[in-house]
Amino acid sequence: MFAASGEELVRICNDNHIPIWEYAIREEVIRSEASRSDVIENMRRTLHVMMDSSTYAQDQQVRSISGLIGGDAYKIKMYADKGITLTGDFLNRAMARAMSSSEVNAAMGRIVACPTAGSCGILPAVILSAGEKLKKAKDELLNALFTAAGVGIIIAKNATLAGAEGGCQAECGSAAAMASAAVVEMMGGTPEQALNAAAIVIKNILGLVCDPVAGLVEVPCAKRNVAGTVSALTTADLVMSGVSSKIPFDEVVGAMYKVGRQMPVELRETAQGGIAITPTALKFKKEIFKD
Ligand code: SF4
Repeated sequence: MFAASGEELVRICNDNHIPIWEYAIREEVIRSEASRSDVIENMRRTLHVMMDSSTYAQDQQVRSISGLIGGDAYKIKMYADKGITLTGDFLNRAMARAMSSSEVNAAMGRIVACPTAGSCGILPAVILSAGEKLKKAKDELLNALFTAAGVGIIIAKNATLAGAEGGCQAECGSAAAMASAAVVEMMGGTPEQALNAAAIVIKNILGLVCDPVAGLVEVPCAKRNVAGTVSALTTADLVMSGVSSKIPFDEVVGAMYKVGRQMPVELRETAQGGIAITPTALKFKKEIFKD
């Protein structure tokens, strides 16, 4: 049985002198009754889909079926290519990756719903960008995905990953938390530091509602993937500088769940509140559904 809490996860990792990714692999071997090499190969297939989805819409303008979003990953890439960005090449290319997967998802292309389809841009953008910058081999990217999975399991056990249940904080927030923890381990951080990063990311997005325009996972979802990516990467640096979360990861996850339960149903994926009921959003909805 996988660790029930972040505290237990850190304790097991420390007792066995292993990172989160190693623990997650061992647990998956037990759970799936597959060999270690099969478990890793499965993750390799996942990584390859992520590589494709995070690149595809940068190279060609991809539009969603509704026409609400599209072409933005291409724009960000073109902008980054000019070398005139404010926040630098690294962040802008990560943003393009996040946008690309979100646009591919909205165009019904192939993505990894990790942890959900709505937040599918964050993990690939963060892991691939950090891996590229740190010159990590593919196996280390796979390890990062296992770290992310381990953190995601703990969030799912103690809260939720669904926007319909917990708002966007639970979807994009969890994705960014998982990604940031993974990068911290990729950078040589401890399991405790990884969970510090996850806690900080969630605290910074706490209360974010789920309010998709016209009920489609497009607006504001794609740009929230970009924001989650930036948060995950910058928080990894924050933690590696020695900054920690004053509130422990488990308590932050508990708070997120409670906030989600306190959200009115209008703000939990029903498209009846927030951005989804602005005049412009309602106009888009009318145009899309022709009613
Ligand atoms: S706004 Fe809702 S549907 Fe869109 S990404 Fe966030 S949780 Fe998912």
